[in-house]
Amino acid sequence: MLDSHFSYIVEKAEAETSVKDFLRHCIDVPKFLACCQACPNYAHRWSCPPFSFDPMDVWNAYTGLRLYARFLIPGNADGNALMGALRKEKPGFLQELLRLEQDTPDSLALACGTCDACNVCAKESGRPCAHPEQLRYSIEALGGDVGEAAQRYFGKPLLWVHNGEAPEYLMLVGGLLTR
Ligand code: SF4
Repeated sequence: MLDSHFSYIVEKAEAETSVKDFLRHCIDVPKFLACCQACPNYAHRWSCPPFSFDPMDVWNAYTGLRLYARFLIPGNADGNALMGALRKEKPGFLQELLRLEQDTPDSLALACGTCDACNVCAKESGRPCAHPEQLRYSIEALGGDVGEAAQRYFGKPLLWVHNGEAPEYLMLVGGLLTR
């Protein structure tokens, strides 16, 4: 990809596991609920906890899990530019996941991160989600450990920008629950 000021490439990877395996190794709802509580999106977006349902009911309604990763590898992009690229890639990644969901009967897409389809989420004003067709929960919102999933199923750790410097890659992780 070539932005006006920097370049990066996107590599795709897929992995497949069972919900049973994922629950055993990557799910800890109370632990990640506590992480979500420290985030400004907590209770401010319909995609984020607290939920009116038990996240375990979502996991337990499915048997299979396909995981999809997008690695953003910097060309001449610095850390800030790569973070901008990550934000830019996220909506397209969600659309890909939604297409996979549409093509797979009885499946449910798992988004990468919070829903930011609207600048201000309708939850802020107590209204129902404005675009439920776009709203999907992320692995972490449902109590999943994305760092552990990245390492276990893709053999790669999550990396972050440090002091404005781009790491070897930044990673988006989404999924598709199947029956
Ligand atoms: S689509 Fe809009 S209203 Fe619905 S969860 Fe996303 S940001 Fe909130």
